[in-house]
Amino acid sequence: MIINKLILENYRNYTSLDINFSENINLIVGDNAQGKTNLIEAIYYLAIGKTFRGAKDKELIYFKQDFFRIKGQINTIRSNRSNELDIYYDQKKNKLLKINGVKYKKISSLFGYLHVIIFSPEDLKIIKEGPSERRRYIDIEISQLDRLYYDDLKNYYKVLTQRNNLLKEIKFKKQNKDLLELWDNQLISYGSRIIQKRMEFLKKLVPLANKIQKIITNDKESLNITYSSLVLKRATLDLGEIETVFRNSLQEITHEEIKRASSLMGPHRDDLTFYINNQELKNYGSQGQQRTAVLSLKLAEIQLFFLINGEYPVLLLDDVMSELDDSRREYLLNLIKEKNIQTFVTGANIEMINQKIEKSKIFLIEKGKI
Ligand code: ATP
Ligand code: MG
Repeated sequence: MIINKLILENYRNYTSLDINFSENINLIVGDNAQGKTNLIEAIYYLAIGKTFRGAKDKELIYFKQDFFRIKGQINTIRSNRSNELDIYYDQKKNKLLKINGVKYKKISSLFGYLHVIIFSPEDLKIIKEGPSERRRYIDIEISQLDRLYYDDLKNYYKVLTQRNNLLKEIKFKKQNKDLLELWDNQLISYGSRIIQKRMEFLKKLVPLANKIQKIITNDKESLNITYSSLVLKRATLDLGEIETVFRNSLQEITHEEIKRASSLMGPHRDDLTFYINNQELKNYGSQGQQRTAVLSLKLAEIQLFFLINGEYPVLLLDDVMSELDDSRREYLLNLIKEKNIQTFVTGANIEMINQKIEKSKIFLIEKGKI
C-alpha cells in the first residue's frame, strides 16, 4: 500500500498542508517540536482512526479551532486501486468518515484501506508496562486485518460494562442473580472469538518474529510470545472448546465476582508474555534486548501483513533509527529497499540514510510547514 497524498486542515500544528509522498522512503527532518511526529501521527490516524500517542481526539485540533480534517489518497498495488479517505472531527465530538466520497457511520469501516506498522520509542511500553499496553497492541493489529474483530471488541466491552453494573446491583441491591445469564452468554460469545483470534494471530506471528530475532542476534537469541489467559489453562484454537471452558470457569468464579462486584475473567484480563531464550523479557531482559525484540516483532508483522494481504503495509519509523545499532539499522534498511516498502522516517542520522537510499524524498518541517 502506498499513501500518495496527504491533506491536513487544523491537525495539531498544521493549519493547512497538501503534500505528495514518494513511494519509497520519505525522510521527515526538522528541529524539535516542529511537527515531524505530528505528520506520522496523521498518517497513522488515517489508518486506525485514532492516535498512537494516547491523546484525545479533541487535543488533535489546532489550538482554538473548531475541527480537524485528514484526507489521504491510498493506492493498493495488488488490485491497482486508488481510494480516498477523509476523516473529520469537531469540537462537538462529531467524527465523520468518508471513503471515496461515501459517508460511513462506523469508524471500523476504515480498517483495511491503509495498513500501517509503526515503530517508535513508545513501543518499548509493549514489553515494559502493564498488560493493558499489550492488549492494546494486539487488538489494534488484529483490527487492521479483521474489521469483525474490532466490532467484537466493541461489543465485548459494552457487555462487560453492563455485566459489571449488574454485579454491583446483585451485591449492593440484592438484585436477582439469574439475570446474569443473559450477559454471560454474550460475554462468552464475543470473548471466545476474541481469544481465538488473538491466539491465531500469535500462532502466525511468533515463528516469523523468532526467525528475525535469530538473524539479527546472530543466532544468540530466540524469541517466544505466549498468550496467558485466566479462561484457558491450555492453548486451543477450537472456538467451541474455548466457549465451553469459558462457561465452566465463569461458573466457578461467579460467587467471587459478586463479592468483588467486577468481572474477573475474559479477554479484558488476558496478557502476552515475551521470552528471550526462555527467560521472561520484562524482568530479565536488558534495554537493548527489549528494543531488539520489539524490532523483530514489528518486522515480523510486516511479513505477516504481506502474507495475509499480498502487499506490504506502510512503515512509520518515528525517532528509532538513531537508537538502533549499525547492524540492526542495516538489516532494516535492506528490508525496506528489497521489498519496496513505503516508509516514513523521522529523527537524527537521516543524512546517513539518505546516502544509502537513492530514491528517497526529503521533507523539511518548520513550525507545521513544509
Ligand atoms: P521532536 O523532534 O521533539 O520529536 P517533533 O517535530 O516530532 O519534535 P511534534 O511532536 O510533531 O514535534 O510537534 C510538536 C509541536 O506540535 C509542539 O510544539 C506542540 O506545541 C504542537 N502541537 C501539539 N498539539 C497541537 C495542537 N492541537 N495545536 C497546535 N499545535 C500543537
Ligand atoms: Mg517527534
